[in-house]
Formats: sequence, structure tokens, C-alpha cells
Amino acid sequence: MSGAWLTLAEVMRQTGRSQITSDRNWDSGASPTLRELFESLKFTPEDGRIWFGDQRMLLVHAAAYGALRQELISTLGLEKARELLMRMGHVAGTKDAAIIRNRWSHGASGDVASIFFNAGARLHGLEGLVKALPNRFTLNADRGSYRGTFTWQGSVEAAEHVAAFGLSSVPVCWMLVGYANGYASSINGMEMLYKEVECTAMGAPCCRSIGRPAKDWAEDESQVRFYSVAELVPRGSRKTGSDDAHTGCGPEPQIVVGVSPAFRAARDKLEKVAGIDATVLLEGESGVGKEMFTATLHAISPRANGPFIAVNCAAIPDTLIESELFGVERGAFTGATISRPGRFERASGGTLFLDEISSMSVIAQGKLLRAVQEGIIERVGGVQSIKVDVRLVAATNVDLRKEVDAGRFRQDLYFRLNVFPITLPPLRERRDDIPLLMQHFVERYSAKYGRKVEVFTTGAVDALLRYDYPGNVRELQNIIERAVISAGADGVVDVQHLFPPGRFPPDLRYLIDANGVFRESESSGKPAGEGGAPNGLVAQVLDAGLSIRQWDERLCREALARTNGNVAKAARMLGLSRAQLNYRLRRLGEA
Ligand SMILES: [Zn+2]
Repeated sequence: MSGAWLTLAEVMRQTGRSQITSDRNWDSGASPTLRELFESLKFTPEDGRIWFGDQRMLLVHAAAYGALRQELISTLGLEKARELLMRMGHVAGTKDAAIIRNRWSHGASGDVASIFFNAGARLHGLEGLVKALPNRFTLNADRGSYRGTFTWQGSVEAAEHVAAFGLSSVPVCWMLVGYANGYASSINGMEMLYKEVECTAMGAPCCRSIGRPAKDWAEDESQVRFYSVAELVPRGSRKTGSDDAHTGCGPEPQIVVGVSPAFRAARDKLEKVAGIDATVLLEGESGVGKEMFTATLHAISPRANGPFIAVNCAAIPDTLIESELFGVERGAFTGATISRPGRFERASGGTLFLDEISSMSVIAQGKLLRAVQEGIIERVGGVQSIKVDVRLVAATNVDLRKEVDAGRFRQDLYFRLNVFPITLPPLRERRDDIPLLMQHFVERYSAKYGRKVEVFTTGAVDALLRYDYPGNVRELQNIIERAVISAGADGVVDVQHLFPPGRFPPDLRYLIDANGVFRESESSGKPAGEGGAPNGLVAQVLDAGLSIRQWDERLCREALARTNGNVAKAARMLGLSRAQLNYRLRRLGEA
């Protein structure tokens, strides 16, 4: 079998080529196409097997791989873990190359590049590791020279690394590099080495790798610098409230978080417009994170080093909005004892975010129009035109079009602002993001308040996933902040820690069943009665089907758990004397 395989050089000689050069013909349609590769993948669940060609494959959770990877790094150190993962990737790449050579290298009269390089890239994608795009490669079979560059998007390895350790100072896609080494070496019949030069785990827009024959790398170049494990602190034990949360390809500004399709769509638009200076109009309900999105836009734009100024127009009285935005000259009005620049001037060279733009007075709208159109402002009471260089992002939670129709918003300004509208989805339409946001805020507030949150009960998670969040991300943020503060001493967050007493949302009536499991109560959806919680509580206790004695036991145990076994405190919590509680505990001990 293996004797029949041809190296790339041999195929090239057979097809009369000495050199192939290619750039971006990933989608050339040449064999093996993604479809052909896909059809080589066979699921035989009745047999407990997945096959790719004649090789048995494994469908592994990315999170499981991430956990293993984190363990490897923590126990063996970065260098050793890197070595092992590279070798694992190397085996996979070599095996895949064998399948490709076996099935497709014969009669390779067509697109040799596709067969070899693009097939490897497609397989990388098919196996769920990364979207690999060959940028450019040149291979000279006679001279034995090769140089290829690849772009990797959405590396699972980088994502898992960032999830475990936060942003890295070195590239971390070790398994991908190993795979590329194994695949290319096997295909070419000579040792190839890839080096990752940029990585999303470092905050780069995409990972990039360069491959060359091993002999062509200078000794020092092939030695990538590695840092000690001590520099990597797993996320859970971080002391500071870091905001990194990396999702996919893009220089993550460590602010907006999400993986849901609705979020990604908005995020993609944001990335598209970031590089150009166009005015952006953000539409969406209150609390969806418009300011965070704008901060993100600013951070990934060429203006990132300039100022980012945010103004909530609704928070500034009508009489002050002009002087706030455009500045004021001394003596313009009583009290204007000194000249001062407005937000426009202060944002010059950077980004100016105007939230709730519809609440701006008509006069201010006129001035804003001039600023947007001509890049010129005048201070209140001033005569001098001042040139400003500002990227404007306006946001609204009302339909501006309707405001125009109602005569409350200038149409010409509306057209000027509505150059590149982005609609930010409400949280209830991006529920996939709730777990990620929960984790994000838990980390932030645990650090802020020095509290340790170990776990959310099933009931709490369920409640958070089902709740409708009229206040959107901001409301979730508040709920998590409250939960972190009020969580039990055991670090467990339960439903009662999420919502204030008596303010359970109507659709979140839960009860504890006989097994101690939260489930939705049958009165779900009904408004709280007079006295709300107590009645509901009684109903829950009755519905749970526990005897008074069982409840007595539960209450005592829970009180003790919450007070870390302090009997006096637990007794106070239950309205009992210490002796009374001790009596009950003795009785439980005998039971
Ligand atoms: Zn990477």
C-alpha cells in the first residue's frame, strides 16, 4: 500500500511540472472537494464507530479537549504540553495525508495544489479544528524549496486556551501546527515545519502560519519563545476582574461577549465597518450593550489610540446639551466664566458615541448635522469654526424613522446618521450567549467583591436561561452582581439569590420536589398573590410532598450549611434558641 503512494514531488514530475504557485484557490472545485472528503466520513453509530476512509475517528467535545489541554499545561508545563499536543497533531496530519495520497494522488493530472494543500486545509475544517485558508504557496520540486502561508480562522485550540487562561503572549495553536507539519511532511516526502506567527489567542484577527522545509529555518527561528506556566493563571483563580472573552476571529477588544448567531451577525457588521470612518447608527433596546459595542468598534478601528468619548444625550438637560457637545466660550451665558471644549473637541482623533440621540433638541440637531457634514463645530457663544476629526456613532432605542415622521427628528440628520445601521439583538433573542455572559459577570463581580462563586444550581441556571430580560444584558449583569453578593457561604447560587424576595418574575415560579430538585411549579405564570412569596412558599412546601418533619430536617441542615456549622447563628436564622436547635439536631442524629 504505502509503496504505491506518491510524494508531491513525484506527482509533479509525472505531470511535468517543476513548480507550483498558488494563491487562494481553496474553492477551485478541484478534487478532492469538500463534498468528496465529507463523503469519506462515515458514521456507524450502531457499531459505535466513526470512520474517515479506513481510519477510525473520534467526535470529542471541544470543552473536553480544552479541559485535557488545560490539565496538560497545568501539570506538565507549557513546553511539555506544547510538545505533546504538537505530536498529537502530527499523528493526525500524517494519517490524513495518507488517506489523501492513497485515494487521490493517482492520475493527478489536474490541480495538484488542490489535491495536496487545499485538501489538508479542508480536512482541518472538516474535523472541526479550524477554518484553514491557504494564502499563498510556492513549491519547487527540483530545488526542494517550499514556502506556504496559511490563515486559520476560529481555531478551537485558541478559543479553549483563552477560555482557560485568558489572552496569551505567545501563539498557542500547537495541535494545528503539529497537524500542518505532519500533513505537509508526509505529502511532500520531506520534513516541513510550520510556525504560527500570529494567533487569535494573542488578540490577532486570525491565526497565521508559515511553512518551510525544516532545513530552511534558521536555528533560532524554529525556536519559538515560551513562557513559564507561572505566567499562566487559570481563569477561575484570577485576582483581577479581567474582561477578556474571546470569541472567534477578530482582535477581541475584551468587552463584548457572545457566540449566538444574532450576536455574531451584529459583531460581523461591526468588524466590517470598523476599518472605515463611516458614521454608525446602533439600534436596539435599552441595555443591549450599545456603549460596549461602540467601545469595541473604537478598539478595533484605526482610531483605537485616540479618545473614546461617550455621551448619553437623554441624561443631559436640553439647556446644556449644546455646550456639552460643542463647548462654550467665556461669557456665552451667565456662569460661563471660562472657555471649555465640548465632547466633540475632546473626541477629536477618536470616536464619539452619542446615546439616545432622539432626545436631542432640534437646535442641537442642527449643529450636529453641520458637525457630521463638514466636520466643523462652533462653541456656544463663539464665532470661530473649529475643525474636528471625529468618528461618530449614534445610538437609539426608539425607531428614528418614526421620530422623523412625527417631526421630532430632522430628516437630513437621520439620513446622515443612517449610513451604516447595526441592530443589536435583545438578550432574549440570543439566549445562547447567556451562559457565556453569566460566566463573564461572575468572574467580574467575584473579583470585585472578593466573593467566591462555586456553582449555580440547576434551578438557578434554568431560571436564567428562561427569563425574558426586559432590561437585556444590563439586567442580567445586575442579577449576577446581586447573586455574587448574596450567594451562600458555600459559594452556591440558587434561584433565591437571583431575584429579590417577592420580585420573582411571574414566569419563574419554581418549587423543590421531593428529591431536592427545582422544577417549575404548576402555578407558573400566575401573578403573585397578596403577600406573594409566603403564600407561594406554602404552596411549594405542600406541593413538594414532604412531611413537616422532613422539612424541619431540611431547614436545620440548610441553616447549618449556610452558617458553616455555627449552631448559634443557625439557631438565630431559624428563630430558635441554641438549645432548641441542638435538640433537633440530636433527634436527627438518632433518626
Ligand atoms: Zn492560533
